[in-house]
Amino acid sequence: MEIDQTLINSTEVAYISMEIALDSSIPTYSGGLGVLSGDTVRSAADLEIPMVALCLCYSSGYFYQLFNEMGEQKEKEIEWNFFYEFEKIPEPISIKIEDKEVFISAWLYRVIGQSGHVIPVYLLTTDVEGNEPWMKKMTGSLYDSTSRWNRIVQEMILGIGGVKLLKSLGYDNLKVYHLNEGHGSFAALELLKQNGGDMEKVKQKIVFTTHTPVPAGHDVFDYDLVKKVFLDRIPRNIKDLAGQNELNMTVLALNLSRYCNGVAKKHAEISRKMFPNYQIDHITNGVHLPFWVSKPMRKIFTKKWPNWRANPYVLQNSLELDDLDVFDAHIENKFNLISYQKGHSWNLLDEELITIGFARRFATYKRAVLIFRDIDRLGRICRGKIQFIFSGKAHPKDEMGKNYIKKIFESGQYLFDNYGVKVVLMENYNMDLSHMLVSGVDVWLNTPNRYREASGTSGMKAALNGVLNLSVLDGWWLEGYKMNDLAGWAIGPDDSDPNAAKNDWDIDANYIYELLEKQIIPAYMDHDTWIFRQKNAISLAAYFNTHRMVEEYAKKAYKLVKQRPWKFQG
Ligand SMILES: *Cc1c(COP(=O)(O)O)cnc(C)c1O
Repeated sequence: MEIDQTLINSTEVAYISMEIALDSSIPTYSGGLGVLSGDTVRSAADLEIPMVALCLCYSSGYFYQLFNEMGEQKEKEIEWNFFYEFEKIPEPISIKIEDKEVFISAWLYRVIGQSGHVIPVYLLTTDVEGNEPWMKKMTGSLYDSTSRWNRIVQEMILGIGGVKLLKSLGYDNLKVYHLNEGHGSFAALELLKQNGGDMEKVKQKIVFTTHTPVPAGHDVFDYDLVKKVFLDRIPRNIKDLAGQNELNMTVLALNLSRYCNGVAKKHAEISRKMFPNYQIDHITNGVHLPFWVSKPMRKIFTKKWPNWRANPYVLQNSLELDDLDVFDAHIENKFNLISYQKGHSWNLLDEELITIGFARRFATYKRAVLIFRDIDRLGRICRGKIQFIFSGKAHPKDEMGKNYIKKIFESGQYLFDNYGVKVVLMENYNMDLSHMLVSGVDVWLNTPNRYREASGTSGMKAALNGVLNLSVLDGWWLEGYKMNDLAGWAIGPDDSDPNAAKNDWDIDANYIYELLEKQIIPAYMDHDTWIFRQKNAISLAAYFNTHRMVEEYAKKAYKLVKQRPWKFQG
């Protein structure tokens, strides 16, 4: 079944992203960027936004993770078969890479909103008949790091191939191309070509969201490489558009978009410092609440507000929830997590103890090992009271990240041998495991270096499920903690302190120990206090929701005129 022509004709927004987390088992995501894209599209479908989405189809996706008995990460390739839930578009298109014609096809997946509105998601692939074997592999794996050549080619397929594909499918009424991070910036070059080089015209069509708060994180390509793959098919003024020394995908997007934003207030501020010549607004991230809510919590929300899914913003009234309902729902989640964990690890967790969770990509700036700074002090505080559960993948090329995994493993052994404190490390963090962790632990820990966490979203999922955040004041939590300081605790100073960005490990670790000892343990011992805080956390999640976020994009970025059926009561 193809997409209905009326739907195609009415589609105004093309959302372009290198990752999109459609389903836990579909390997089109590696972390937060993909989860955000997935949640964006899920909310856009619920809000009946006329949107189509583009990403690549990675047959061997991101890797499957295992740990050996030394706590070392082992990577296994996964082969994912895209044939089951998808259908292929009828006619491939082609783009030029070097002097070769490369065919691109796409698998179609439908995201369906609560009232049936469909957002088509096209996953582009070069695994097409007619392509030489090396061409077929170009969309093989996510963030293919074998060479810069592979990377630029993947970005050409996404940006140039994507725009051409939409045109060939008859999406003729697109008003906005939303580049979710700079990976898709070559779309702007294809649009320039389609619009006779008219920069102003193209600019009116492009909206850009940046996600990267450090200069080194932005995708750049050597002009020699650019020349090699594009030959003469690149605008003559490319250096004015994308940077004099190398082609910077962010600069290209900034120069060719009419609206640009960061993903949290602080992140936009940092981005404006990095790119002082541009206007960069902020739209703070969220999560798709109906997707991330656990079953027991969903049950009590539905009991209280039968129609909450239509307007998740009612969760702001969560203080009205019944104490016992919240308590029971959380206990059910905690038991689920612990019994699942018992089937997957030798080190068994204990239902009675305060369980602290930490799960995210093991990129070094996230400082997963900060909590072990003074390990004996931690052991003394936690003995008989607190246990830990960690999960996350390190990029295969990130040796530091892999060392952190090993360090967690070793610290766990030390804490257990000396204090009986359990630290469990779970393999292969993905969205399914994330669902269990963000609802089943009591406290969600986050310790990034300040102003490196563009937004962060796992803490929002935790709050939604009545899990309290214990986090450095960065990204969304800088905003969240200011809105409601009962939803969790802040590690270290806020951004009014000029020393905050020094990220002193001893100071930050000391904050954690003090909070654990003087606040978190006593609060947990007193059921009423804890449940009151849990309800505050849930009410905070009402704001950090992609319905609110997509509505902001619709108004400020897409400037959609047609009213949506959803009523935002902010
Ligand atoms: C939510 C989520 C993330 C993003 O978490 P951060 O807090 O932003 O690091 C990453 N991976 C998975 C599997 C997730 O579900």
